[in-house]
Amino acid sequence: MNPEEIKRYLKEYNGPELRIMEVCGSHTGAIARNGIPGLLSDRIRLISGPGCPVCVTPSSYVDRLIELCLQPQTCVVTFGDLLRVPGSRMSLQEARGRGGRVQMVYSPMDIFALAKREPETTFVFAAVGFETTAPAYALMVQQILEDGVTNVRLLTALRSMPEVIDRLCADGADIQGFLAPGHVAVVTGSKVFEPLASKYQLPFAVAGFTGTQILAAIYGIVKVWSGDASGPGRGRVMNFYPSVVTREGNTRAQRQVAQYFDRADAVWRGMGVIAGSGRFLKPEYAHLDAGSAQLTADSKINRGCCCDRVLTGRMRPTQCPLFGKVCSPLRPQGACMVSAEGNCYTYYVNQRE
Ligand code: SF4
Repeated sequence: MNPEEIKRYLKEYNGPELRIMEVCGSHTGAIARNGIPGLLSDRIRLISGPGCPVCVTPSSYVDRLIELCLQPQTCVVTFGDLLRVPGSRMSLQEARGRGGRVQMVYSPMDIFALAKREPETTFVFAAVGFETTAPAYALMVQQILEDGVTNVRLLTALRSMPEVIDRLCADGADIQGFLAPGHVAVVTGSKVFEPLASKYQLPFAVAGFTGTQILAAIYGIVKVWSGDASGPGRGRVMNFYPSVVTREGNTRAQRQVAQYFDRADAVWRGMGVIAGSGRFLKPEYAHLDAGSAQLTADSKINRGCCCDRVLTGRMRPTQCPLFGKVCSPLRPQGACMVSAEGNCYTYYVNQRE
């Protein structure tokens, strides 16, 4: 089918109601920017899930970064989107206003120039991300070890996508298919979603990031439910991003991550602890860690903030009573309104309903 036929099919679809979840902040943004919900039949609903790494990072993690940046001779190094995420008492940006030392960078490797310039200061990198960014942190650890750098640490909040999808499904989420994250799948391979597809008998469609690619992936899921697709039952993984995603993924990157990080239980914002969903530095590299493993619970979040329900698809951002009233990108009350990949931010700036 060509793109025009796919569009027509999806607009005219009149089968059972389908709720399809995307679990990637870049997909959430692309769906809104391309006006994709308006191209679909009313019987196909797109639901945004826990796809923004900054949003799922617990407030206890932000609190720990704040504690670190206020210590003498310590500087927290981070990407910009973490700066305004609320902790239980303040954000990193506010901590900076109170004398905390926080340095924004564009690449994890920028930390080495800082560390060399100030050998008496300890630089702590806020290593937040999913499978996509974990290889960059593995390279960082490798360089620390190879160069004998003594004043760089990591505070990790590395999270894994299959485990959180498993949690959503096990909790009975009313979802009939997943747009699987293309960037994650480049590293993990599409096969990482196969056990979930089989366990919950749901279609997973690995999607790219253009409007056409996303529509093709939605079409793949809808066809499975329409009974029109060829092959075995509903529990299947389809790859609609074959230009960069293979079934096996980037095995070299997978090995690098496995060399330095172990899998363990980890806490997610608003979702509690999810078994096996975190990546932590192995015990032999514990001297490079700034306290990640001690973060076993979330701290309180702003009263009224519904990030927990928004991240799990139980509430649309616009249903949050604070949305657009006291919570906006200029005055975010929760993590989901801070990052450009956040569900609330994306719905707000694109005026998505
Ligand atoms: S709109 Fe703001 S307060 Fe409501 S869930 Fe989103 S981030 Fe939290």
